[in-house]
Amino acid sequence: MTPLSILQKYWNHDTFRSVQGEVIASILEGKDTFALMPTGGGKSICFQVPGMMKDGICLVISPLVALMKDQVANLQLRNIKAIALTGGIQSDEMIDLLDNCQFGNYKFLYLSPERLQSDWILERIKNLPINLIAIDEAHCVSQWGHDFRPAYLKISSLKTHFPKVPFLALTASATKRVQEDIVTQLGLEQPVVFQKSFARENIAYMVFDIEDKLFRIEQILKKNPEPSIIYVRNRKSCLDISSQLQSLGFKSTYYHGGLDSREKDKNMKLWMKEEVQVIVATNAFGMGIDKANVKTVIHIQLPENLENYYQEAGRSGRNGEKAYAVLLNSPSDIFQVENQFIAVLPDKEFLKTMYVKLCNYFQIAYGEGINEVFSFNLNHFCVQYQFPILKTFNAMQFLDRQGIISLSQEFSEKISAQFIISSKEVIRYMSLNPSDEEIILTMLRTYPGIYEVSTALNISFIAKKTKTTEEMVLKVLQKLKEKEIIAYQSKNNDATLTFNEVREDEKTINRVSKYLENQNNLKKEQLQSVMEYVKDKKRCKSKIILNYFGETKTENCGICSYCITLNKKETNVLTLAEKIKFLLRNQPLSSREIQISTQDSSEDVIFALREMLDNNLIDITSNNKYSLKK
Ligand SMILES: [Zn+2]
Repeated sequence: MTPLSILQKYWNHDTFRSVQGEVIASILEGKDTFALMPTGGGKSICFQVPGMMKDGICLVISPLVALMKDQVANLQLRNIKAIALTGGIQSDEMIDLLDNCQFGNYKFLYLSPERLQSDWILERIKNLPINLIAIDEAHCVSQWGHDFRPAYLKISSLKTHFPKVPFLALTASATKRVQEDIVTQLGLEQPVVFQKSFARENIAYMVFDIEDKLFRIEQILKKNPEPSIIYVRNRKSCLDISSQLQSLGFKSTYYHGGLDSREKDKNMKLWMKEEVQVIVATNAFGMGIDKANVKTVIHIQLPENLENYYQEAGRSGRNGEKAYAVLLNSPSDIFQVENQFIAVLPDKEFLKTMYVKLCNYFQIAYGEGINEVFSFNLNHFCVQYQFPILKTFNAMQFLDRQGIISLSQEFSEKISAQFIISSKEVIRYMSLNPSDEEIILTMLRTYPGIYEVSTALNISFIAKKTKTTEEMVLKVLQKLKEKEIIAYQSKNNDATLTFNEVREDEKTINRVSKYLENQNNLKKEQLQSVMEYVKDKKRCKSKIILNYFGETKTENCGICSYCITLNKKETNVLTLAEKIKFLLRNQPLSSREIQISTQDSSEDVIFALREMLDNNLIDITSNNKYSLKK
């Protein structure tokens, strides 16, 4: 079998894209390989194809649970045996799954980095016939990266155990400093480096300074009736913007992490099938989405960093046709950014207080709590201790990246139960109802504390163990509840929280706080780069992005918001300026009102207004209208 025949057989593609073929060849030669490929560049093929060609199992390390689940499901669809060990899996279940890997002819084992922290899991992995170790999101190993996770540092110990197994490091975004750090931290030996340029020639990067954002969105969507994504920062804005667009006559839906999986699925399908033009989403939307004909990606608020921006904007124009990545900025946004991003960075003291309260909230005693899973509502927690919500969220994210907790933002339905009759009575019940026996026994074996406390149940695990369906398990639970054998609760939650370590207050926080300042500074630097991207009116936007990723490109892209102003003729601006002066002679007007009167494009109007402001011909009034200078 050649790589190409594997690709054809399992993926039904005829050719490799960009550097995929070369990356695969390098791995097959047994070399450590480092591939810098933008999102959408087909990273997974780079390890999936060689993983299929070699005997044994390919180990894939990734911090993105949703992405892992997605890839595993995708492989299974192609009749390839794959498994994911993510957070929140009980030890029992984990042992079963690892047994499967060892004896079940599995080809891919996906692992979150926190799993490597457990010595027994590491020991089990050492016994597996590993043929390739792929490290996705490799920038997580560098503390100069935007997503540093100390658990990644443990990966290099695999190098000692598998000296002959090639490593493949993959990342979609890494500055030069991070690239060098990745090689060192992972212990890659003379890696062959493949880098696909981050240039996306068909995407026009547009930054507009505008007060009336909705009006501008309306214009863009009318002019480009093809599929569009609008990114907003929070869940509430998703609903707001989507319904505003609907009232303007657009077909629109929305997507955020707080929706249950049915709604997510429904809304996403509406958009994928193009029954609606627009999907308004938080950054929870995008993973695993591969829609080729997205024409516009509009950001209504400033992104946190250019890494995220590049990924999200890059979901447009995958088909190679011209597309637009639009960032709408109002002057007040820049002032707010300080409050939104910098003021909410937690310091060490806050981190410590928050961690202690978090343990208390779940009644975890000192020295305990490892592998305990809770459903978690951030709002409720913050109200109880009067914590500011964003700062708390950031502190929790930091603990998540340090591997102390795992926070899944997936909406989940938590089912918990507790037996409320004696074990004798349970045995009597089972002898009278033998069909329920297996499910009851599995619950008792898996959750030893289920007589004492209400215990969260993993329904799919019980179903698998008893070789039945989840519906059947739920039916039995319902029956047991009606017969007052168990107390049974089903709750909807925003998130699941897993404690990965025992509670040690000071010791825990002191260990990780050395990274905190570093990460905070990095966040400030990253935000600074976003501001530069927005504010720099003298450079090609595409160039600014490429420079940020360490590419030195000399030519302007010719299509971004800067490049198109270069093409504007001065005479044009003069005539427009004359028109504007005429319009303003009686009363002050907003840019939107001016634009409606002149019928010029709003870029032209804004450009002219800016020129006029610079030349002291007009003023801005307190309600954001323009007036002639007296
Ligand atoms: Zn340009």
